[in-house]
Parts: sequence; C-alpha cells; structure tokens
Amino acid sequence: MPKLLCVYCASSDRLDAKYLNLADELGTRLVAEGWDLVFGGGRTGMMGAVARAVKKAGGRVVGVIPEFIKVRELAYDEADELVTVITMRERKLLLETRADAFVALPGGWGTLEEIVEILTLRQLNVVRKPCVLLNYGGFYDPLLQLFDRMQEQHFYKESNRSLYRVVGSVAEVFPAIAAGAAPADPKWYETR
Ligand code: AMP
Repeated sequence: MPKLLCVYCASSDRLDAKYLNLADELGTRLVAEGWDLVFGGGRTGMMGAVARAVKKAGGRVVGVIPEFIKVRELAYDEADELVTVITMRERKLLLETRADAFVALPGGWGTLEEIVEILTLRQLNVVRKPCVLLNYGGFYDPLLQLFDRMQEQHFYKESNRSLYRVVGSVAEVFPAIAAGAAPADPKWYETR
C-alpha cells in the first residue's frame, strides 16, 4: 500500500484561486509520485482542494477530523477513511502517527501550529520523518526570518536547519522528501 503523505494547509473558504490551484497541483502530483493522502479531513479551502485532487487522480484519502468540526458538515465525506476524534490534539497525534512524511502549504493559525509542532518533535527526535515546507511565493519568508533570529541567538542549534527542507514549488516537494530525515542533534548545548 502506498505511503501516506500528511498535508497541512489552509481551511479558509475565502482564498485567492492561486492557493486552491497549488493544493490541487500537490494532490495530483502526490498520487503520480506513488503516495496517498492523510490530512485533517476538512472539505473547505485548500484542504478540500488537495483531497479532491487526490481522489480524482485515483489516490486514497485518509482524513482525521474532530467531531465538533464534522457535525458542522465540514468533513470531506468522500474520504476512503474518515477517522473521527474528539479534540484537535488527538487529531494532530493521529496525523503524526499515520504519516510517513509531512508537507505544509500556506495556511493560517492551524497550519502554523501543525508546522511548529512537527518541528518541535523533530528537534527532540520524537518524530523522525521528512518535513517539507512549501514556501509558495515566499509566503513563509517572515516565519523563516524569525527562525533565523531564533537560531542566531541560540534558542536552538544551527543543525536544526537540517530537520526540515524549504522548497518553492510542488515539483521540488518529492525530491526533498526522498532526501530523507536527518536525525536531530541533542536539543541542548551544554546540558547532558
Ligand atoms: P488553518 O490554517 O487555520 O486554516 O487550519 C488548517 C489546519 O488546521 C489543517 O491542516 C487542519 O489539520 C486543521 N483544521 C483547521 N480547520 C479545519 C477544518 N475545518 N476541518 C479539518 N481540519 C481543520
């Protein structure tokens, strides 16, 4: 069975078409590259766009959605497997467990939280799977500048930079995943 790529992306239903097209492109490419999708199970915004593209291309869609979102009929009901959980935390844990790799597209707070959680777990070696940030049109440049500042001032080690890959296009996502996941150095500088 193909591996599961976890896609984190926007659920907003008021986005410029270029973002929906990006999600569609990733969903189509993901299947062509031999992957299936695991995601937050929503039908709105880029989340819905990526799921519909995967289905259209003949791939399998696994959604993990909290009950309170599902009851608002915001779930992607055409998913091959839709796991219902109670809390957002449970969902994140299941996504992390089921996925073989992670890619983040542009998004809002929910996506940002997912990105930062995965990086936090990567630096502690709790998660050891490839993580790719699709910095489409420089969307994440301000976040990456903040990351630079954190690193320069020793909030984390320079080697953390090897725990994720930043790419600019869908085509670059899959070679970046194939490059694998470097193990993390110990988080602390002096404490053993
Ligand atoms: P945001 O970037 O704030 O739109 O949040 C999107 C991210 O948070 C997705 O990757 C989901 O995992 C999760 N999320 C937020 N809203 C929903 C929703 N309506 N249905 C499912 N997951 C959601």
